[in-house]
Amino acid sequence: MPGQNWLVNGAILKGEKMALVWETLAYPADMQAVSFLLAKFDFVVAAYSHADWDHCLGTNGFSFSNVIAQQNAIRRFKFELPATLKKLNAKYSKAWEDVCPVPPDFVFSDKLNLDFGSFRLELSSFPGHTPDGMVGYIPEYKMLLAGDSVEEIPVINDPKEVPSWIKHLKKWLTEPDIQSVLPGHGEITDLSLLEKNLKYLIALMEKSPVDVETDNPFYLDVHQENCKLMGCSVGK
Ligand SMILES: [Zn+2]
Repeated sequence: MPGQNWLVNGAILKGEKMALVWETLAYPADMQAVSFLLAKFDFVVAAYSHADWDHCLGTNGFSFSNVIAQQNAIRRFKFELPATLKKLNAKYSKAWEDVCPVPPDFVFSDKLNLDFGSFRLELSSFPGHTPDGMVGYIPEYKMLLAGDSVEEIPVINDPKEVPSWIKHLKKWLTEPDIQSVLPGHGEITDLSLLEKNLKYLIALMEKSPVDVETDNPFYLDVHQENCKLMGCSVGK
């Protein structure tokens, strides 16, 4: 965001014949900056954890062979992103004026496995934060690429998605092999973040007061908003 310095995490997976860019970040310049890492590959795909603008507006900065997302992203590219871009350009002096969102051209509904030769990436649908959420698991590296399905304080957009969010967090918590988790924002962590988010969402569902351990003003606002959406008190 112009004038602010928060970060979005991405990853580049380099296989024997193909490479994958997990999240294209917020500006085409973000992808131009990493294009030298992809120079030797003829086949490079992008994958969006979800169609929130900060995870997918960099795609124009590189010539990707395909763009992969969960199928609900198509609807969000059609109806939500153009409106979001309009708002961003109005608020931040046309910082995204030349950016054209690139919708996925390869979608899946439940699971999609990609073989990179020496490792695999298992993409799985994970609706919760948004209806088009997906995560990527790399068994050989015991790593989960989680996007905004986990966050310091989970950002609830639609209370109707929370039961599905809880279901998916519980499912991934039964994968004891996972050693590291890359969230969409914040440090690389482990399954404890899924556990923390699960407890938080269950408490909100049960309308119990929730205390949060953050002094980050952004997440304090998110917590207030979550409590309002879920109809419960803010806690300490
Ligand atoms: Zn995000």
